[in-house]
Amino acid sequence: MENGEGATLHAIAGTQDVGGHVTGNEMERVYNGTFVKSSLTRDTYAKLKKACVNDICPLCGQGTVHQLDHYLPITSFPVFGVTAINLVPTCSDCNKYKLVHVPTTVAEQTIHPYFDAVDDERWLFGEVVNGAPAAVRFSVAPPASWDEVKVERMRTHFRIYRLGALYATHAAVEIVNMRYALRKMAATAGFEQRIRQNLRGRAESCAAVYENSWQRATFEALADSEWFCASGFDET
Ligand SMILES: [Zn+2]
Repeated sequence: MENGEGATLHAIAGTQDVGGHVTGNEMERVYNGTFVKSSLTRDTYAKLKKACVNDICPLCGQGTVHQLDHYLPITSFPVFGVTAINLVPTCSDCNKYKLVHVPTTVAEQTIHPYFDAVDDERWLFGEVVNGAPAAVRFSVAPPASWDEVKVERMRTHFRIYRLGALYATHAAVEIVNMRYALRKMAATAGFEQRIRQNLRGRAESCAAVYENSWQRATFEALADSEWFCASGFDET
């Protein structure tokens, strides 16, 4: 716990066994063959998977939770193989992307949803890419109040889980879906302002739920883009 709260989990030395008796492979079999599957522990496994809102993966904020991820990989840290705070609900993609990412410095640690409070401030922003169709590029722009380590860890998290590509894909679908409605709004004079207000309203509504959602960043970036509000929304 002390290492988690101090963001120094990377400093815990990995071991190939547990107490010199149980090997890492054996702990993997305990986890995969018993903890995940046994009728005696299935409920506990399910409860840990439910430790998130609406079954949404806390690592990307988008995917559906399908499994648990060992924050400290079981291959290097078999001693934490079935430790609850080391088991983070995750979607399949996030679990795959992280694989055996073993941070060697504090800045290489991804965000641990049980220990790290990163949604206390705004950090996710979007920028419109003018094109046919319009697109949104996402980036991490942490607040000035964060220290250097927190900033770097957020960037590591964004990179390891490929959040930029994930959010850009979903934003692209959103832009296509709103085209019909925006075309209707563009039928009369002064439409740029109406479209901008509409997009701002959507951004505010999303921000009220979750400040760092890709939806909020998308609507805000689109509202800020004169090109998008004037004609970009109609580009195909
Ligand atoms: Zn995920």
